[in-house]
Amino acid sequence: MATHTTRMLIIGSGPAGLSAAIYGARAGMEPIVVQGLQPGGQLTITTDVENYPGFRDVIQGPWLMQEMQAQAEHVGTRMMWDTIVDIDLSGPVFTATGDGGDVYQGDTLVIATGAQAKWLGVPGEQELSGKGVSACATCDGFFFRGKKIAVIGGGNTAVEEALYLTNHSDDVTLIHRRDSLRAEKILQDRLFANPKISVLWDKTVERFEACEDGALASLALVDTQTGENSSLAVEGAFVAIGHAPATELFKGKLAMDGGGYLDVEPGTPKTAIPGVFACGDVMDHVYRQAVTAAGTGCMAALDAERYLAERDFADKSRVAAE
Ligand code: FAD
Ligand code: NAP
Repeated sequence: MATHTTRMLIIGSGPAGLSAAIYGARAGMEPIVVQGLQPGGQLTITTDVENYPGFRDVIQGPWLMQEMQAQAEHVGTRMMWDTIVDIDLSGPVFTATGDGGDVYQGDTLVIATGAQAKWLGVPGEQELSGKGVSACATCDGFFFRGKKIAVIGGGNTAVEEALYLTNHSDDVTLIHRRDSLRAEKILQDRLFANPKISVLWDKTVERFEACEDGALASLALVDTQTGENSSLAVEGAFVAIGHAPATELFKGKLAMDGGGYLDVEPGTPKTAIPGVFACGDVMDHVYRQAVTAAGTGCMAALDAERYLAERDFADKSRVAAE
């Protein structure tokens, strides 16, 4: 067990945390990034990224995050393989404890813990996880080559996952609880033009059902308009119904909105505690994009640097006056 100290402690290694690290390191704050269970964040579970500025050609999410980490390390960031399990925000030094007992102390704290996949919470879902049920098409799509697959959800993630899965299967069904999709129009256009994908509207999954060998066999569905029951035989089902912010650590310590996203001063990454900043998906339930996460990560580092400069100046002035 060790104690690690820094001018800028960053929790999370997605686009927000790594962008904060790049700016913090270049400002001489020698940041520490604690990476958590998903080094690189959500983009490591996707394939094509077409909307991150600076790349004319399509790039891969995992590659982009490797490059971001390499850039952060190149300018002086220390990356830690650890997950924070406890946090003390009483200050003036902020203290985080890793799951192995290591302690991280920061003069400033940048929270960039992002978001995690949501599950439906219906019978069979967790029992069949890894046996046909998944929340990551990129990770698990390969295992369903040539098989019947369903994707549940109607947002960008669900549509992208359905499109991606057509690389592996000619029979992909998107199941959505309403009669219109939330996904961007360009993705919808691609979905509707793809002959390998069909859409089941106004349906929810009531149950994931197994066959005798314990693998997923079918989905029990309910029509949200008529209440009618039906069944869809599938060997793979991908739950893609959005994400929940990773803010459990901060309950009772920082203000949050009804969805659990951290509250910040509008237009800034400042939380109610001076020296503690939040950036990326953990404080943004509206945009939730890699580029906005990176942008707010940059803002958090700039504000952290200003906070320290003002605090140091005030300390020096007080010492000079004494
Ligand atoms: P995240 O990427 O969620 O990273 C959070 C980080 O916090 C992780 O490293 C995690 O390990 C860490 N963490 C969490 N808890 C702890 C803890 N207790 N201790 C230590 N570390 C912790 N956006 C786009 O702009 N373009 C796209 O093409 C695109 N495609 C997407 C495809 C998919 C399948 C998904 C799910 C999202 C996609 N997005 C896309 C959205 C984009 O990935 C997110 O907006 C972005 O990753 C958010 O960045 P973040 O740094 O805020 O958080
Ligand atoms: P999302 O936009 O929140 O969409 C979630 C979808 O799941 C919605 O269609 C919702 O239905 C449905 N849903 C939620 N709970 C459900 C339940 N219990 N049962 C059945 N259906 C349920 O989430 P997301 O698609 O993961 O996207 C998250 C963010 O990442 C978004 O900001 C998105 O733009 C971004 N993203 C961007 C890209 C890209 O730019 N290429 C790719 C992926 C994700 P309703 O529509 O009825 O609410």
